[in-house]
Amino acid sequence: MSFAALAGFVVGAMAVLLYRNQIGTASRRSGAVEEPEPGALPQGVASVLAVLPSSAVVLDAHDRVLRASSAARAFGLVKGERLMAAELLALARQVRRDGEIRESEFEVAGHRFGQESTSFAVRVAPLGAYGQVLVLAEDQTERRRVEAVRRDFVANVSHELKTPVGALSLLAETIQDAADDPEAVTRFAGRMQHEAARLTYLVQDLITLSRIQGAEPIPTPSQVLIDEVVQEAIDHSTTKAAVKDITLVSGGAEGLRVWGDDELLATALRNLIDNAIAYSPEHTRVIVSTRPAGDSVEISVSDQGIGIPEEALERIFERFFRVDAARSRATGGTGLGLAIVKHVAAAHGGEVTVWSKEGSGSTFTLRLPAFGGTAVAVPNEKSLEAAL
Ligand code: ADP
Repeated sequence: MSFAALAGFVVGAMAVLLYRNQIGTASRRSGAVEEPEPGALPQGVASVLAVLPSSAVVLDAHDRVLRASSAARAFGLVKGERLMAAELLALARQVRRDGEIRESEFEVAGHRFGQESTSFAVRVAPLGAYGQVLVLAEDQTERRRVEAVRRDFVANVSHELKTPVGALSLLAETIQDAADDPEAVTRFAGRMQHEAARLTYLVQDLITLSRIQGAEPIPTPSQVLIDEVVQEAIDHSTTKAAVKDITLVSGGAEGLRVWGDDELLATALRNLIDNAIAYSPEHTRVIVSTRPAGDSVEISVSDQGIGIPEEALERIFERFFRVDAARSRATGGTGLGLAIVKHVAAAHGGEVTVWSKEGSGSTFTLRLPAFGGTAVAVPNEKSLEAAL
């Protein structure tokens, strides 16, 4: 339920309660029962406030806090008997004056360590006949953050799409102009193919990313044999490795199983292996190893490549983050590979970690929950030393 709907519901419920209270009061009056105190909450209001997830504050006719939910105190909206935000207080006074419900948004300075500020959506309504005012405030910080991330993502995608599309259009024009020069036409057509391939990779990665982000956990999981996933990923990357004379080897425990989606796992591993190849110099080695680790299965991809600067390590799993954008593009990178790996790992209840040293190489490790709760390898373990 949206905040506006919830707030509407609450204010409506309060109105019903007040109506009932008034009837109750009238009947008690006739029975000479005492009227409720002007400083007390209308009957039933406290129970409604107690179940609300949002911060709720009731002010009396003199702006004193009659009731505040623990969330309102935790957010620093209320201290003792006072409402701390001046803007809110002004709003409450207006509402008390003209009896009209008002909505607004406002920010309060961070009250938690490391937090800059909290943004609230508020709804303020009159409550009862004694000048009481109800303030409902909903923390919007997370929603705003998610919106900002989404906006950034759309801006990034547009930018990433614009580059190859722009290049394609320029190349098409150039080919038109060079119609009499078959050699130039062949050269530019080759570059067009390259740009078109880049566009295809980007679209494919975007589709994969939206598929896993939208479908956690995995829709149709099954038992997955890690050996097959490793083989699939290695087969796919053999040509790329051969072009740079990179030796691609695998080894470790065999027969390990997880519960999940073999295609997604192969995509994730392929991304790690492709990166290992892309960010390594020629004539080096990329090692894929598997091992049982208690209730998990670990698949590691190690390279002897350029490594990752320490300050970039925690950002490399973000969508479109690249240490060196030009190098990433030159190798056909989309900037989405590791984001896909991270989401595939999370969708399987696992994680991906990285160790890296600039100039020495990197190791990425996928850790996934083992099928059946314990990682079991078959006894004829292929030794990694032997593979090397
Ligand atoms: P890209 O398509 O740019 O490779 P990724 O999401 O796969 O995008 O990786 C993000 C960035 O992390 C890369 O641009 C690169 O700077 C860095 N990176 C990833 N894997 C490696 C690796 N094995 N060695 C060095 N840097 C890497």
